[in-house]
Amino acid sequence: MREVYLDYNASAPLDERVVEEMRPVLSEAVGNASSVHRFGRRQAALVDEAREHVAELVGGHPGGVVFTSGATEANNLALQGAVAAMTGGAARLMVSAIEHASVSRTAQWLADRGLVKLEVVGVTAAGWVRPDMVAELIGPDVVVVSVMAANSETGVLTPVGEIAEQVRERGVLFHCDATQMAGRMSFDMGELGVDLVSVSGHKICGPGGVGALICTRQAQRRLEPLLMGGGHERGLRSGSLNVAGIVGLGAAARLAAEERLQEAGRVSALRDRLVAEMMSRLEGVHENGDVKRRLPNTANVRFVGADSEAVMANMDPVAVSAGSACSAGSIEPSRVLLAMGLSRDAAFESVRFSLGRFTSEEDIDLAVDVAVRAVERVRSMTS
Ligand code: PMP
Repeated sequence: MREVYLDYNASAPLDERVVEEMRPVLSEAVGNASSVHRFGRRQAALVDEAREHVAELVGGHPGGVVFTSGATEANNLALQGAVAAMTGGAARLMVSAIEHASVSRTAQWLADRGLVKLEVVGVTAAGWVRPDMVAELIGPDVVVVSVMAANSETGVLTPVGEIAEQVRERGVLFHCDATQMAGRMSFDMGELGVDLVSVSGHKICGPGGVGALICTRQAQRRLEPLLMGGGHERGLRSGSLNVAGIVGLGAAARLAAEERLQEAGRVSALRDRLVAEMMSRLEGVHENGDVKRRLPNTANVRFVGADSEAVMANMDPVAVSAGSACSAGSIEPSRVLLAMGLSRDAAFESVRFSLGRFTSEEDIDLAVDVAVRAVERVRSMTS
């Protein structure tokens, strides 16, 4: 049976070229990257090369790369680390309403413990984080502002540079979760004016369980570590390094930087064809979010009158995802779509298609057929 994977925003397949670079590290390399003997030094040299590739992907400097277990840890380090390093009294933390749970739940946890007051920045109906609201709320008592570069559910891009201007003017730290954007479009933290950037291996066709927080020199001094121990990663993340994973992340970052522009053109054409064909064959198909300013690989599509969980269940073996998350046994509508002002019903009818490096024309042909049949079936069962 032909399977079609259109869930790249959840996790992208590992590129065979990345596997080839990781293979000798897994099978032959010996030693701890912090050891001073030749074995250790060889491991450290591999890590340093990866550090350069990761820095280059986001326009950072290699010395600012802190390797982590993924973007979840990078996001936690940015927020918890900045709050732990805070000197002085009452402070506020600002995050947007559409952040990944690793930002929003961390922010809520810090607020629940009374360490900060939480300010949540809303989004427009098009899914944009509102720079005007950041400008209104920002002040020197804000310890860190965290706004993602591109939303994982809708793909909508944030006006990062515009927000960074507001934030940096007040000397406030600006963290940007670029997990979904960095591998797919140009992202330059220096040009944008971002202090801290999170990335993840498995979103850029690299391995899972490895990521990084890329920091400016000044920002690095304004963070405390989450993990204490041997003082690795300039004291910001103790623990012997996952050399094979880091080499994989570095290779994935290098390939993404080389190929992202070209890939964006190919993938966006496939995505647009997918949506156009579904729209031509079905009534009541709408796209959620700003279709002019979004990731090239993502479409968040509402099929009016068709529950997304039921549509997905009928789409096997084509993998897509619903914005809703299963929490404590109950299905909740997508927070992101609700923040954009969609009704619960509309949110429950929305499906995310996310394409990527290995998506082919044939995949799209099959996905269109399967999606159309699934929506028709679900609609006929509920009408
Ligand atoms: N941020 C965003 C925007 C994401 O999409 C994800 C993954 N769903 C994460 C953070 C977490 O990344 P990781 O799986 O590497 O912890």
